[in-house]
Amino acid sequence: MAAAVFKDPKKTHKTNQSEVEIAECDCCGLTEECTPAYIARVREKYEGRWLCGLCSEAVKDEAARSEENITTNEALDRHMKFCEQFKSSSPPANPAEDLISAMKHLLRRTLDSPRKNGSSPTSFVRSKDCFSTL
Ligand SMILES: [Zn+2]
Repeated sequence: MAAAVFKDPKKTHKTNQSEVEIAECDCCGLTEECTPAYIARVREKYEGRWLCGLCSEAVKDEAARSEENITTNEALDRHMKFCEQFKSSSPPANPAEDLISAMKHLLRRTLDSPRKNGSSPTSFVRSKDCFSTL
């Protein structure tokens, strides 16, 4: 019997950058373990604020949906307002978790939105690079 022997090398989880820090999202309060380099990169992008993967995706989405050309910072402001409104309108039991599922819902709706076959004045490019974190 020529069964194919599939050798599965053990995946190592160790990286060269073993140093991680806990970063807290300025929008939803979610914490993530990140390398200091990554934290610095995100802070630089959002003018000193740190956003989790989901929130930064939501900010990108906010900018893409906006009809005017808004800056990352304006999109961030809008997203933070969305988070604040959500937090103040939901019971305090588990606001962060509720907010995350609301955002996922929001993003999924955008991603699954049916293709418009009509005239679309602007073609927009969506980068999928960060989506694996969902
Ligand atoms: Zn967040």
